[in-house]
Amino acid sequence: MSVTNRNHAIEAISKRTELSGKHDLDENAAPIDYYGKDVFNAGAIRKYLSRGAAEKLLATIQDGEKLDPSVAGDVAHAMKDWAIARGATHFTHWFQPMTGGTAEKHDSFLDLNEQGEAIMTFSGKNLVMSEPDASSFPSGGLRCTFEARGYTAWDPTSPAFVKRNPRGATLCIPSIFCSYTGEVLDKKIPLLRSIQALKQSIARFMNLFKAEPQHVAITLGAEQEYFLIDRNFYLQRPDLIQTGRTLFGAPPAKHQQLEDHYFGSINPRILNFMAEVEEELWRLGVPAKTRHNEVAPAQFELAPTFEELNLAVDHNMLTMEILRRVAERNGLVCLLHEKPFAGVNGSGKHNNWSVTYGGRNLLDPGESPRQNYIFLAFLTAVIRAVDLHGDLLRSSTVTVGNDYRLGANEAPPAIISIYLGERLTEILKQVEKKQYETQTHKARQLKVGVQTAPSITGDDSDRNRTSPFAFTGNKFEFRACGSSQSCAGFNMLLNVAVAESLDYISERLESAVGTDEFQKKLDDLLSSLITAHKRIIFNGNNYSNDWVEEAQRRKLPHLRTSLDALRPFLDQRNHRLLERYGVLSHIELESRFEIFQEEYLRKIQIEGEVSRDIAQNQILPVALEEYGELVKVLQASQAAGVSAGVKALERNAMLIGQQIDALQQNVDKLASYNGVDPTNCQEYIDTTKALRTAVDALELLVDDRKWPLPKYREMLFIY
Ligand code: ADP
Ligand code: MG
Repeated sequence: MSVTNRNHAIEAISKRTELSGKHDLDENAAPIDYYGKDVFNAGAIRKYLSRGAAEKLLATIQDGEKLDPSVAGDVAHAMKDWAIARGATHFTHWFQPMTGGTAEKHDSFLDLNEQGEAIMTFSGKNLVMSEPDASSFPSGGLRCTFEARGYTAWDPTSPAFVKRNPRGATLCIPSIFCSYTGEVLDKKIPLLRSIQALKQSIARFMNLFKAEPQHVAITLGAEQEYFLIDRNFYLQRPDLIQTGRTLFGAPPAKHQQLEDHYFGSINPRILNFMAEVEEELWRLGVPAKTRHNEVAPAQFELAPTFEELNLAVDHNMLTMEILRRVAERNGLVCLLHEKPFAGVNGSGKHNNWSVTYGGRNLLDPGESPRQNYIFLAFLTAVIRAVDLHGDLLRSSTVTVGNDYRLGANEAPPAIISIYLGERLTEILKQVEKKQYETQTHKARQLKVGVQTAPSITGDDSDRNRTSPFAFTGNKFEFRACGSSQSCAGFNMLLNVAVAESLDYISERLESAVGTDEFQKKLDDLLSSLITAHKRIIFNGNNYSNDWVEEAQRRKLPHLRTSLDALRPFLDQRNHRLLERYGVLSHIELESRFEIFQEEYLRKIQIEGEVSRDIAQNQILPVALEEYGELVKVLQASQAAGVSAGVKALERNAMLIGQQIDALQQNVDKLASYNGVDPTNCQEYIDTTKALRTAVDALELLVDDRKWPLPKYREMLFIY
């Protein structure tokens, strides 16, 4: 195929419309009428199952009770009928392997009976377990290649749902994924185990305060940032297609300096896209709540209402999938990469985490936080957990994309610290000194100076946007996760770290429960814990260099590079923690290290190779052509004795020539590597960066009409 034929092919693809059909929602349907319609939720369960079976299944979903295996057959039957009524022809176990995405292998309900007639079947066995070939999923050496078997098993705590496509639909059964010998091969099992562990530790901790046993919920609200660009630009950028980010591109004169995009009025085409995303999410029972423009041009955010952690993680995975799919249908591409464009803000995923006990938020300071011991003790446990295991939390943020984001000046840096705000920090000082002020807290009233405005109660904590782990009123917000990441990894580690801290407190106080000594023991313990762990609290500007130095003085870990940040997975201390709570064995944890390191190195190598390819095959020919023309004109003018303009010709030829040399030198250097490993990784990254510098310089020198890649000013601004 010639270049023009290839371009025609791409053009034809970009115009493809056959998949653009919207789902079957009535234009005037109100969200309340279709919310959760495609979820096998309590309503559907009650409608399609006998009363007894329905109650058993609901007890598992709502209270985490073990499912009575005898009802699996009935549940399968009901699910099948329900799904078929929604147009489903297939079912799949929907799981979350270590690739960080979701996986599915569809089987049709269709089967043949003894007479050879077509029937629709779906048994309890089909529902409970499936055996996809596991050999091609990353396992970090856990599953020897001769033992390819892996099992997916139904997670009844996350409801099944129907995923629609323009033609037909598929029943999706949220599932866990493990090897034949039971080793964990996914992100869901450790998350579920950590939830179980933390719930137990919370129940024990609440016993200290003689609380009645109550339903415990760990909650998550995951704010999703993303970029949208027109698909026609995307198809002309091999780097976006292959790596998810632009490997080249000079920053445009205007990008985000004027801060005119954040919360700006939303472009109608984008708003249309957002509305369609929300319709799909609402149908799937994902409570999409907030939508707005983000800081960078072409950057946006979607935030849901928080839900129980396991469900919220599944829902975030679905959200990412739907953002991508609806974008394509609208002639757009949704970029979930952490740093698709250099020089403008990257995308994160803020993890808002909290715990409720019998519906009461344990991180809610309430009216009188000084007297609220449960809150103070719980808060102290989190502080201790993050101080002791901040290194692990940092590990959970490793992706190639986050490399370009963390520590750049819009994202919290690679040093984990906690922001509490002035008021709470002051209260903790009192707890440490065991000198409580008796005066109760009156909600701070903000005066907005407008007569008609109602009085507004100020948030207890001012919003510090620079902290990686911030207390925001009644929850902690971890901001270092990347936009493309699953929330499972970080929350799993946080849960275990907090469980251990709660147990630490319980162990020290249990014997005093009900005695006169309890209060004094609690005061002493909290005071000593704050003294021991207050170094992790930092309310200042995390982006400043002073903080980097200060953190060093406080001996807080600063794991700058991704390879450094993965090492805590090999630390005995962390092995002991995760093993003690039955969340990951040391072998499983080490296998995760292997998986993440290998994935990281491979992606770095792919970026290098794509850079080399684009530079050599797309940029160099254009630059050489321009250089050649300049030299030709220069020679002609010299021969003709013309001197005007010669200086400019010479200067441009020289500038372009210099960058061509730099380009070639770095292309050759990249080609000389035999592979990327931990010893040469940084050098390889630096070479890729040097190549970018040369190409970006050429972009500003070469005739605009000839430049083969869509430019930042086009991709970020034109819809
Ligand atoms: P901001 O952008 O200022 O951080 P947003 O309103 O965009 O705030 O997002 C806040 C997120 O925190 C939402 O997803 C919200 O549902 C979630 N959230 C609120 N309360 C809790 C809670 N108790 N537990 C977990 N998440 C919560
Ligand atoms: Mg936030």
